[in-house]
Order: sequence, then structure tokens, then C-alpha cells
Amino acid sequence: MKILKTIKELQEATASNKNKTIGFVPTMGALHDGHISLIKQARLENEIVVVSIFVNPTQFLPGEDLDAYPRRTEADKKICEICKVDYIFMPEISTMYTKEEVLIKAPNNSYVLEGQSRPGHFDGVLQVVLKLFNLVQPTRAYFGKKDAQQLTLIQQMVKNLFLPIEIVPCEIIREKDGLALSSRNIYLDETQRKEALLISKSLYSAASLIAKNEKSSDVIKAKMSEVMETLDVEYIAIVNKDINEISEIELKNTIILVVARFGNTRLLDNLWI
Ligand code: AMP
Repeated sequence: MKILKTIKELQEATASNKNKTIGFVPTMGALHDGHISLIKQARLENEIVVVSIFVNPTQFLPGEDLDAYPRRTEADKKICEICKVDYIFMPEISTMYTKEEVLIKAPNNSYVLEGQSRPGHFDGVLQVVLKLFNLVQPTRAYFGKKDAQQLTLIQQMVKNLFLPIEIVPCEIIREKDGLALSSRNIYLDETQRKEALLISKSLYSAASLIAKNEKSSDVIKAKMSEVMETLDVEYIAIVNKDINEISEIELKNTIILVVARFGNTRLLDNLWI
């Protein structure tokens, strides 16, 4: 496994693997089993696996946790080594961005849900993902369904800009008790950690209503609100795969999204129906 820090090193690595399939997993590090599942899938499906670890400043809003975001470089390297990653790309901020940068604007429809709560967040996400795609030139890139809106916007960008990359959506990995894994879970204290279980519980209650043939988004949202009554819920949304709100469940085309706050920590989870 090689650690690459500069654009030149990365481009040389890409050039030396020109005729091979490259699986790419972009991350912000503090790797957990969610990231590992993406890396394992990339390992199975490609000759070369590249993981990037870069806490991307342009996707954090002023006042968010950019400085506090967990950084665990040594542990991350060990995980990648065990997962037989070929290259880790770990650039400095100054390597990825010049001072005068023209921002990519995410489409207007990204200013709902996460984009409404964090205006500009997806501009930063698409900016860094496009830069990374141009550098790595992967055959396939792996993204978690946990960040459903991010996944959709990246799929749209790839389609609209004719990028020759296959986007591979990966299942959400959870703790045994149901909490979706996230690098931000470490911010939770013991009580918040217990309360956070209500998020997945609300999604399971939605799934059970749907299994009983309930179709109405309002009824399902009301049930979820009831389960999460004691939480500071920022939003519950029921959308189709284009992230448009829908009033009735459409099987195989529905995502139920939840965001709840625990102090300064926002936890996001979802269920694909
Ligand atoms: P991050 O490091 O948080 O930017 O996440 C990097 C990638 O890992 C993104 O594609 C996320 O959607 C994905 N990811 C994060 N948490 C999970 C999870 N619990 N299950 C599956 N994928 C995840």
C-alpha cells in the first residue's frame, strides 16, 4: 500500500495503472465499518483500489465542526492496509484548493433537506468529488446510501457531465442495536447514545407500517414523530430517488430520511423502500 500526498504522486499512480479497473472510495477518514464495507466492495470489483482521506473544508459551513472533526490517520492507514487498499490519497488543503477558486454550484434542487439546513454544503461536496474524480479517474466510485441526497447529486453530476464513471451505491452499516455508523457518533455522550436509537426505531416503525400496506406519507411521518417524540428532530422527509417529496410510498422508489439533533451533533439516517 502506498500513501500519496501530492497530485504528481497520484497522477503517476493513475498513469501506471491505466489499463486496470480502479475502484475509488472517497472519505473524510476516521474510518469505521461503514467505510470498510465500501472499501471491501471496491476490492472485490476492481484490480486497483484507491481510498482518499481528506476532511474537505468547503463542505463545512462557518461554525460547523471542521476543526473538531475526528482525525485518526494512523488507525485509518492500518484499516486500509488490512483491507488491501493499493493507494491512500491524503492531500493537504493547499494541494486541493488554490486561493481563487471558482465554486461549482450544486443544482437548485439541492437546496432542500440537507441543502436547506446546510446551504452551500453540497457545492463543496460536488467540488471536491469532481476534483477527486478528475485526479483518480476511477472505473467505479463507491458511496454510502446513508448520505442519500449526496449520492443522488453525485449520480446526477456524473450523468450531466458525461463522466465515464460507474457510481456504486452501498448499503447502510449499523451498530448491532440499529444506530447507523457515523464518524460523528463519537460526539454523543452516554445518554444521547441511548436516545439516538429512537432514530432507527422510527425507521423500523415506518417499515412495519409499509409492510402492512400503509402508503400515506403523512401517516408514516406521524408515526415516526411519535416514536421520536422526545428527540430534537430537524426533519422527517419521504422522497423519491430524485429527492422530490412524495405523498404516497412508491415501492423501490422511496427514501425515508431523518435528521435529529443531539446538542451540536446532527445525526442523519434513512431507509430505502
Ligand atoms: P464520510 O467519511 O463521512 O464522508 O463518508 C465517506 C463515505 O462513507 C460516504 O459515501 C458515506 O455515505 C459512506 N458512509 C458513511 N457512513 C456509512 C454507513 N454507516 N454505512 C455505509 N456507508 C457509510
